[in-house]
Amino acid sequence: QCITHCPVGALRERDDVDKVFDALADPDKITVIQIAPAVRAAWGETLGLDREKATVKRLVSALRKMGFDYIFDTTFSADLTIMEEGSEFIEKLKDKENNKFPMYTSCCPGWVRYAKSHYPEIVDQLSTAKSPQQMFGAVAKTYYADILGVDPDKIFSISVMPCIAKKHECDIPTINDSKAEKDVDVVLTTREIDRMIRSEHINVHMLKEEGFDMPLGIGTGAGVIFGATGGVMEAALRSAHFLVTGKNPKPDAFKEVRGMDGWKESTIDIAGIKVRTAVVSGLGNADKLIKAIEAGTVEYDFVEVMACPGGCSGGGGQPIADKEEKYTEKRVDKLYELDQMSEIRFSHENPSITKIYEEYLEAPLSHKAHKLLHTDHDSWDMPLSPFMEDEV
Ligand code: SF4
Repeated sequence: QCITHCPVGALRERDDVDKVFDALADPDKITVIQIAPAVRAAWGETLGLDREKATVKRLVSALRKMGFDYIFDTTFSADLTIMEEGSEFIEKLKDKENNKFPMYTSCCPGWVRYAKSHYPEIVDQLSTAKSPQQMFGAVAKTYYADILGVDPDKIFSISVMPCIAKKHECDIPTINDSKAEKDVDVVLTTREIDRMIRSEHINVHMLKEEGFDMPLGIGTGAGVIFGATGGVMEAALRSAHFLVTGKNPKPDAFKEVRGMDGWKESTIDIAGIKVRTAVVSGLGNADKLIKAIEAGTVEYDFVEVMACPGGCSGGGGQPIADKEEKYTEKRVDKLYELDQMSEIRFSHENPSITKIYEEYLEAPLSHKAHKLLHTDHDSWDMPLSPFMEDEV
């Protein structure tokens, strides 16, 4: 399938559907699948389901019919990313003299690749937190393997992502830290999961809503908005405020970082500390921002970068629509609506997050959290042809 709009340069998408069907048919494999935030806003588009009906709970139901053993939510590990990345930012702010600013988010592999290849001088300013996909995979093959009492190698870890660059990310050897060979074995795009649903002849109009499995199926509204430009920044600021003051801000206190503009900036006050933020989406905007920082015309403390215009909602693995921008905006609106409807809107209040720190990780930035949930961006070299079997 030719992809014309993937912002990270993929011309032909690697099709991994058969690998997943093989895993489902293998009685020795335990299939554990995670669903990314932005997928829930788009999966029904090419299946004839309107956005109201195409809930993530109906997608869970479709995956259960297909035979996946455990179905979890990447919003759980988006919350985990916030705990680690938010804590990392606060630690850097406390020691401003000895750290370089801005700190850049690192959950978008398209952006990380771009920074490594075009601006190696800023790589040490990227957060060391892994992306939610990779954090989930590491947790699935350690903490969850322990809960199941199985060898991590028996777990076949699959993710459904709005993204083609994620297929490359899961192959980076130094980003895989569980005892198994890879933390995430296969990445499916939204388009691929839609094809699987069609090929299994599942009537999506008849699906009843079903819940995620537990305990990795609980995510907050903060985790859901990871799929929208500005969402990672907003989620991080909500928890950073709590980490600094011990009190929650109003959930919508930082809504000025929302919106479809390609470059947004704001100054946030956290207990008297002024945090200068920028949110950019689209690599052209990222390029302009870095040039402006290097020229000294702008100054920030914390910058969110997403390679795709509009963030993951407009990702290269999402269904392709004629008027792509409008679709991206509708998906983004849906994610903010889901955030508003969420019972829990702060990552640090996710009960499964509290539990995993109590039972396994100890605390954000602990030795164990560093080992499983952080990475060294200098430890891998840029491959020549990262996403494709071959180029067209
Ligand atoms: Fe992937 Fe695009 Fe999201 Fe980056 S912004 S993680 S490239 S879908």
